[in-house]
Amino acid sequence: MAVLPETSVEFLKGVGPQRADTLKRELGIFTCGDLLHFFPYRYIDRSKFFKISELNSEMPYVQLRGKVISMQEIQGKGPSRLTAVFSDDSGSVELIWFQGAKFIKSSIKPGQEYVLFGKPNLFRDKYSIPHPELELLSTYQSGIKGNLQGMYSSTEKASAKGFNSKGIEKLMRILVPELLSSITEIFPDELLKRYSLPERKFAYEQIHFPTSHENMNRAVWRMKFEELFFLQLQLVRAKITQTKKTKGFSFSEVGEMFNRFYKDHLPFELTNAQKRVIKEIRKDMGTGAHMNRLVQGDVGSGKTVVALLCMLIAIDNGFQSCLMAPTEILATQHYQTLSELLFGMPVQIRLLTGSTKTSERNEIHAGIKDGSVHILIGTHALIEPVVQFKNLGLAVIDEQHRFGVEQRFKLWKKNALPPHVLVMTATPIPRTLAMTLYGDLDVSVIDELPPGRKAIKTSHRFDSSRISVFGFMEEQIKAGRQVYVVYPLIEESEKTDYKDLMDGYQSLSRRFPLPEYQISIVHGRMAPHAKEVEMQRFADGKSHIMVATTVIEVGVNVPNASVMVIESAERFGLSQLHQLRGRVGRGADQSYCILMTGNKLSNDARLRMETMCRTNDGFEIAEVDLKLRGPGDIMGTQQSGMLDLKIADLAKDGDVMNAARQAAIDLLEKDPDLGQSSHQGIRQRLSEMLKNRPNWSRIS
Ligand code: ADP
Ligand code: MG
Repeated sequence: MAVLPETSVEFLKGVGPQRADTLKRELGIFTCGDLLHFFPYRYIDRSKFFKISELNSEMPYVQLRGKVISMQEIQGKGPSRLTAVFSDDSGSVELIWFQGAKFIKSSIKPGQEYVLFGKPNLFRDKYSIPHPELELLSTYQSGIKGNLQGMYSSTEKASAKGFNSKGIEKLMRILVPELLSSITEIFPDELLKRYSLPERKFAYEQIHFPTSHENMNRAVWRMKFEELFFLQLQLVRAKITQTKKTKGFSFSEVGEMFNRFYKDHLPFELTNAQKRVIKEIRKDMGTGAHMNRLVQGDVGSGKTVVALLCMLIAIDNGFQSCLMAPTEILATQHYQTLSELLFGMPVQIRLLTGSTKTSERNEIHAGIKDGSVHILIGTHALIEPVVQFKNLGLAVIDEQHRFGVEQRFKLWKKNALPPHVLVMTATPIPRTLAMTLYGDLDVSVIDELPPGRKAIKTSHRFDSSRISVFGFMEEQIKAGRQVYVVYPLIEESEKTDYKDLMDGYQSLSRRFPLPEYQISIVHGRMAPHAKEVEMQRFADGKSHIMVATTVIEVGVNVPNASVMVIESAERFGLSQLHQLRGRVGRGADQSYCILMTGNKLSNDARLRMETMCRTNDGFEIAEVDLKLRGPGDIMGTQQSGMLDLKIADLAKDGDVMNAARQAAIDLLEKDPDLGQSSHQGIRQRLSEMLKNRPNWSRIS
């Protein structure tokens, strides 16, 4: 029977129903096509042999040549263990097997020359190699099929059933030649040439069985490109369809409110980046198509005023706006900031949160409905069904990643036409990720901070030097500054986290006693009103130290606060640390961020601290974060289905992503419906993918 990509693996020679079951369950391989796309995760150069004296623990896998000179079976409580001494002319190393001791012992021929393949471990200054692969040199020499050998990932259970890397490779040797004839090129020549892509058939063969380093690299490039190309093709298409289909309000005027505010009320000159972004947004809102735009700007880059100017354009065109923030504190602060900025202007601005009193709430609801309220600021309360706008023209969402895409839709449903949507985020997202996550959005970047900001000085201190940190805080307070001390609060360890917070608060209270010093505290267990009072006390400069859990993470603006002490900093992720640090450095004074940690740090944590100390650049930090955590984690599980990539890596393959996106854009510009004959391969592959992966449609 001819094997096709859709054929169940069961029917591949040497598999059968039982082994197929293991492949399905353990490795997610159902069809021959799945197997074909099960690519090696790395390649081993089989032509290279190491000497035992050259071993070091950094080596992933090594190949050695030598003899087994002794073996010992060790009986313990469980199954017996086998150790052996393997040596070449440079030295010897211990081999260990924890399973199958009897069988291995009987099959090894002492004194014969072997090729060994395995991963060296360093334990108490001695190297050992657990579960090495051993092959008689003579067999090895007769079987060698190419210098580069693909390594396939597997699971313990699959390995036990014979599907370790070698077992999978054996299957590939049967599969690839069988399937090769059914693989046809799908890209037009021109595309292959422009991006130096090798032929498809060649790529499938070489990715499993490369005949040289160069061929391997070319095959990997092709496969990554193809994968990202189809991802981008879907995103770009979704975006085009959306812009075409979704009509939006046309804000043709920039009128009195905008101009008056700009001339008489704006307290500073906008940065060039702010001006550019406003221009981009203005243009978008004037086209008659629906705007869906993301504004990325590091903490303190001045996104709020950009949002305000856009809301004024909406008012100039007879529309209402809303601004949604993730927390009540932040919404309140936005309300205060904007009210101050708008002071003396005939603009009605109101605040609606979960704790707005009923009478006031009703009044606000009425004002929104009859159009007398122009700007509504709030939290989730904004998108409750009872909130009916007369004509919502622009919805600004601050810190979008806390809301998720779902809520964007809720906002849409409020009018006949959807309001323009402006999403603002201070968590810079690496470009590759932005292109994927927000492939259907336009992105503006405020890549410039207002002038006169001094870079925040960041340092890392161990808990043991707390006394000197307290001394520094005292110095700063004496100089008139204020200090944040932030504690982690994580759901799983809430109890101990609160204890740490309260302990910390107490020791600070002893070190900085009343009446000389005032300390505020804000945490999630306090009533909203109490939080508000404490925040306000700090904002007004009435308290010197703000002890808080991460509730202050986003948005809060107290320019006189110049020191941020982050306790247990090793427990925070990079983007959170960066957000927290962004709370200081808002005034004219030199600001400081002090990362307190325990003495023992994991490598990851150390790298996070180093990165924070090295740079203030949110984009650079985001890149490191992406490399440390991987894209799935950053985007949350919600969108991770999209990132079900087989070979491309968003953290590393930015170049490929750029090329693939460009290729997708070019193609759709030339042939939006993929109707041209040279694009039929692409069209067909796309429809297969859409059919097989319902979750891909979620992105549009
Ligand atoms: P973020 O982008 O983090 O939301 P904000 O909008 O809160 O930043 O702005 C941070 C601070 O910078 C605010 O105090 C704001 O008034 C000020 N600011 C914004 N734009 C400018 C500018 N062009 N020149 C000077 N100060 C500015
Ligand atoms: Mg902000």
